[in-house]
Amino acid sequence: MAKVIHMRDICIGCGACAAVCPKYWEMKGDGKSHLKGAKMINPDHFELVLPNAECNGDAASSCPVTCIKVVK
Ligand code: SF4
Repeated sequence: MAKVIHMRDICIGCGACAAVCPKYWEMKGDGKSHLKGAKMINPDHFELVLPNAECNGDAASSCPVTCIKVVK
């Protein structure tokens, strides 16, 4: 299992996550990214549990402000 965490308040909207992992990441109208299918823990914190991390590891590595975490 892998839990993908997005601390959305920190996101600067660079688009890197959506570029390397479009299956799970998309850019939204407010300029920040969105983790598709994620549960909102609060407006700044989203989580998605998956069988494995897939490309979310690349998304986390590509994020310049480290607001994506993958916990295994
Ligand atoms: S890579 Fe990080 S800062 Fe850039 S859009 Fe994705 S979550 Fe936001």
